[in-house]
Amino acid sequence: MESRWKMRVIAITIGTVMALSIVYSAHLRRRRRKQKRSRSSCYLQSDQTKPQQAFKRVLADNSYSPFKHLKLNESENALNSHPYEAEISALLENPQLEFSFLNGSTDSKMSEEYTWIETESQLKELLGVLSKERVFAVDTEQHSLRSFLGFTSLIQISTQKEDYLVDSIALHDSMGVLRTVFADPSICKVFHGADNDVLWLQRDFHIYVVNLFDTAKACEVLSKPQKSLAYLLETYCGVSTNKLLQREDWRQRPLSKEMVQYARMDAHYLLYIANCLIAELQQQDTEISCPDDKFNFVLEASRRSNMICLQLYTKEVEAFPGESAASSLSSRHLNSQGGVSSISCKTQFQDLVRRLCAWRDLMARVHDESLRYVLSDQAIVTLADRAPMTSAEIFSTITQADLSVELSFNSFLLSPSPVVCSHLNDVCSLLQDKIGNFNDLFPMILQKCLGPGGSCPFSVLNYALLVNCNLKVTVASKQNGERSSKQAARKSSRDLFVQKFSCKSPVYHNCRIYANDGRLLCYCDRRKLEWYLLRDLAKLMDENPPAIMLLFEPKGRPEDEDNDFYIQSKKNICVGCGEGNHYLRYRIIPSCYRIHFPEHLKSHRSHDIVLLCVDCHEVAHAAAERYKKQVAAEFGIPLFVSKVVDSKQAQVISGSSESATNLEEAGVSPLQLRTAAMALLRHGPRMPSKRREELKQIVMSYYGGREITEVDLEMALLVGMSPHERRRLEKKKGLSFKQSILPNVEQENNIGCMETSSIVDASELSALDGSHNTEVKACCRKEDRETDADVGDSSICADSGIDGEISSTKGNANSDEYGVSDTKGVNVVNSEDNCESRSPSDGTVDLYHTKHDGTARHKHNSKLSLLGHGPHGKQVVDHLQKEYGDDGIRQFCQRWRQVFVEAVHPRFLPAGWDVMHSGRRDFGEFSVYNPAKKPSATGKD
Ligand code: AMP
Ligand code: MN
Ligand code: ZN
Repeated sequence: MESRWKMRVIAITIGTVMALSIVYSAHLRRRRRKQKRSRSSCYLQSDQTKPQQAFKRVLADNSYSPFKHLKLNESENALNSHPYEAEISALLENPQLEFSFLNGSTDSKMSEEYTWIETESQLKELLGVLSKERVFAVDTEQHSLRSFLGFTSLIQISTQKEDYLVDSIALHDSMGVLRTVFADPSICKVFHGADNDVLWLQRDFHIYVVNLFDTAKACEVLSKPQKSLAYLLETYCGVSTNKLLQREDWRQRPLSKEMVQYARMDAHYLLYIANCLIAELQQQDTEISCPDDKFNFVLEASRRSNMICLQLYTKEVEAFPGESAASSLSSRHLNSQGGVSSISCKTQFQDLVRRLCAWRDLMARVHDESLRYVLSDQAIVTLADRAPMTSAEIFSTITQADLSVELSFNSFLLSPSPVVCSHLNDVCSLLQDKIGNFNDLFPMILQKCLGPGGSCPFSVLNYALLVNCNLKVTVASKQNGERSSKQAARKSSRDLFVQKFSCKSPVYHNCRIYANDGRLLCYCDRRKLEWYLLRDLAKLMDENPPAIMLLFEPKGRPEDEDNDFYIQSKKNICVGCGEGNHYLRYRIIPSCYRIHFPEHLKSHRSHDIVLLCVDCHEVAHAAAERYKKQVAAEFGIPLFVSKVVDSKQAQVISGSSESATNLEEAGVSPLQLRTAAMALLRHGPRMPSKRREELKQIVMSYYGGREITEVDLEMALLVGMSPHERRRLEKKKGLSFKQSILPNVEQENNIGCMETSSIVDASELSALDGSHNTEVKACCRKEDRETDADVGDSSICADSGIDGEISSTKGNANSDEYGVSDTKGVNVVNSEDNCESRSPSDGTVDLYHTKHDGTARHKHNSKLSLLGHGPHGKQVVDHLQKEYGDDGIRQFCQRWRQVFVEAVHPRFLPAGWDVMHSGRRDFGEFSVYNPAKKPSATGKD
């Protein structure tokens, strides 16, 4: 009985447990499902109302990459030039003035009929019609609220006989059909106020207008009291229009009757109006026929019109997403506050505005919405001001902010927007400062939205955002499986490099210097501020971030010189991809050239030194090395001075290393030599004999082909090194050389030369077989201090790490790629130019060389260090200077910037950075840049 009872209890217990576990697991499943759903809760998943989602071809996507213009001809090398520049220029010089548009009396009245074009065959028919016309009128309507860049929703085209309404949404992908008639110089296109339309047609369809007559420009030339279309319609056609319809939602289909009327009217009367205006222009020309007055009204109207056609659509570029909006919102708000807030409040406010603006920018791009649709300006300001913490508070803050502003037209907008509602968590994190590094925000949010299993729909408009952002990650993980060992070796050397040589603290301090009238002069590092403060040349205005005001009148202002680069705040991120965790300085103009520039062209290098992450650095560096070869070929000045003719005479003749396979012919680069010698010294006995033989050949060819000894190998390590490098290498590697075989280095140790550099043994990082070899080199130049204070200097970065470069090559050591490392770390800059005297003009250069018998000839031209491309650089610069003067050098710099831009596609360059940067800037009497007044020389203060 008892046992039966027990059994029942057990059975019930088991049953209950089972039932409970079923209930619980169902609950869990539900929860999981719910979580999954909430992960993909973006409002766009259920919003089917956006017609652009059906576009297959989008020319201007929402990524940060620049807009690519139509290329008529693949060989055109000019980057993004106007494809019809020649045709338009021809029109500007020689206008097509066949302005008898209208044959006889034309009834300008609008009939009931018009043609709606919505299929490709209709569009082609229209093309046939238009190509037979001498003139047609055009207008376009845009939609911009529910799109990031906006899109053309309707194109109205009117001939003398007919009005066409082209559904450029339905035909978005085929509109290019009309390209030819728009670009045909023999057909005149009449617009009213074409400035925007011309750019929109480029942006959406690569349609370029050639031969334009703009009735607004004609009004200008005729000095009409008004130049609005409404005015012209009233005056010439006696019709009135309701311009409010302009702001209708032009995406809607079918268009309302009113909208059709309005749209037709915008184009229909243009031909008639143009005719009237041309008649007036001609009349002016005949009436005012002052003989010495060359002004021709018709020509001028035509010229001004066609000038519009030369414009090119560009996407707006910002140094950081949302930055321009953030700074204008911040300053507007802080000005209206009248400076009542404390500095720390101010800083928090500005920081939040920046975060919110960046988030809004990114969200608008991801969802293809306008900024104002995502989050209004007033909502951003209110959020940053009140810094609400919870979702509910954030929600109500936005609603209140939007309500409090008179939104006559935007009142139909949802507040908060669906974007905010479905991504409220991100807004919370932003405001709660959960995201440690602001720069991480960017890739993180992108991943959440568009990454694998992301919350938001992927589209032609937003995919490039992700592609650009994650390219490296995807590529790396794909390759990992296939060639894991190489990848791993590469990765470890990369990590080592990052760890060792990237800047340990921010390079740009974003300290500000104001003029005595309160205008911002430049951003710089702390040292520069201290320099002025110590000398009582400035007073401190703000602590965090620090700002000073100069107490003297600076010579020239950045904006006076049309040079706003120097007043841009600089971000401590990779200018290429925005990476914020590590970065290195990169010199856009290789030092082997720059070092030989005349002083006045060198003084401003902050423009041409940028921060790059290791990956972008490598890309940039490889491109620069390729371009150096191109320069070498173009000028006929070989990269290496390398062939050893006679080791006893220790003379080196310049020769090309292009065919490095033939060492006898080509000689070896110093780097190649050193790498080979190092590998032989360290691993020679354990190396596969074939490899050992290869390396031996390299070293032997340096010694003129004779057999080599261990001492030769050790000596080879020193070739081309500066005294400092030599000592460093000794210290580092514990390699000791007999004093007798070392050249007298002490006297080379010029006081002005503070350069240090280190060479990390390539063999440490490379596989023994030489199939993978990475050389890492880093140096730190205090020389930069005087000329380059606003980029930071060695004191900012703890050890020698601030300035590094990495180069890595695959393939065997014979490859001339081996000489890839620039001379940066090696060329010693002598502050006294007494070594300059020797540079034989016959192209051969005497160089320091250590003889194998242990005696050394001291003949070291510091600027012509044997390692790397020093001599090449000098010859190129001398040549440029001689042939073209300073302009030659400036253009040369521009070429390097172009190489950089094309290789890295930098997305985070400071605004104002310019390929065409002139490098011209004057320095005031007290400037730390003033060449006559170096800080060290001003010690008396
Ligand atoms: P319209 O040249 O007058 O036909 O205008 C062309 C397009 O420009 C319109 O479809 C609008 O998208 C845009 N647009 C022009 N003016 C305004 C304005 N004041 N407010 C909003 N949108 C405008
Ligand atoms: Mn219009
Ligand atoms: Zn979303």
